[in-house]
Amino acid sequence: MFTLNNHLKSIYMKWIGRRESSNVDDRRGFSGKGLAAGGGIVGIIIYLIYSFLGGDPGQMGPSPIPQTESTPLSTEQQAADDDRAKFVRVVLADTEDVWNKLFAEKGSDYREPTLVLFRDGVQSACGNASSASGPFYCPMDNKLYIDLSFYQELQEKFNAPGDFSMAYVVAHEVGHHIQTLMGTSEKVSRMRQQSSEKEGNRYSVMLELQADFYAGVWAHHAQRMKGILDEGDIEEALRAANAIGDDRLQKQATGQVVPDAFTHGTSAQRMYWFKKGYETGDINQGNTFNSPDL
Ligand SMILES: [Zn+2]
Repeated sequence: MFTLNNHLKSIYMKWIGRRESSNVDDRRGFSGKGLAAGGGIVGIIIYLIYSFLGGDPGQMGPSPIPQTESTPLSTEQQAADDDRAKFVRVVLADTEDVWNKLFAEKGSDYREPTLVLFRDGVQSACGNASSASGPFYCPMDNKLYIDLSFYQELQEKFNAPGDFSMAYVVAHEVGHHIQTLMGTSEKVSRMRQQSSEKEGNRYSVMLELQADFYAGVWAHHAQRMKGILDEGDIEEALRAANAIGDDRLQKQATGQVVPDAFTHGTSAQRMYWFKKGYETGDINQGNTFNSPDL
């Protein structure tokens, strides 16, 4: 018999029995079927997926919503999916605790984001997305969107297994929410409109690296407040950062690296900024825009 729970307990960070966030909109029961086409996801990972597959991000159209009936999950798959859902609820709760505290220290209120769990396809204020988009954050509705099958992809395709690599993904998307609350995203998108494509890509990289930095800041404080991490968790996060750096993905897809098309930063840059956040825990150290090597 497949003893899922025991298996998870042994590999997951210390999350079982802890608070789960109530800011979760679980839409896994609804397939994307029937959603009207239109709108394009403001690129986070979808942009990356498009560019690493060789498409022109400038011509990125609306994500097609899968029109086929999704195959129902087996009981085992459903149980695994539910466990992952529980896990990301706990991680989201941890991000709420940390960011509420850090915002309060700065004298402001933290507006908690909503996490939408979906399967196959989903409609957001930024447009429709399919699972192929990967996890993303929509600044228009302040929601994070995650199809839990990405967890499996991390394990299989990107060779970044482990619970903490998924926590890192959630914390990175929350990082984009922080940028939205702080006005950084808006500032950068204004800057992008007035710049060349190459320069615009550079700004995107800086935003992405700053989201990695915020994920590191979160890990720093979550560890201090709750001691949530097991030995090896940070290595897992770094492995995920390393595995989903644009250079790696491009190399895997095309066999060559084209730096100008980078939108998330290289593996080394992602690891550097996550680590910097983790080591300092200081949100003021995350100015990726002044980084000389970008
Ligand atoms: Zn991102």
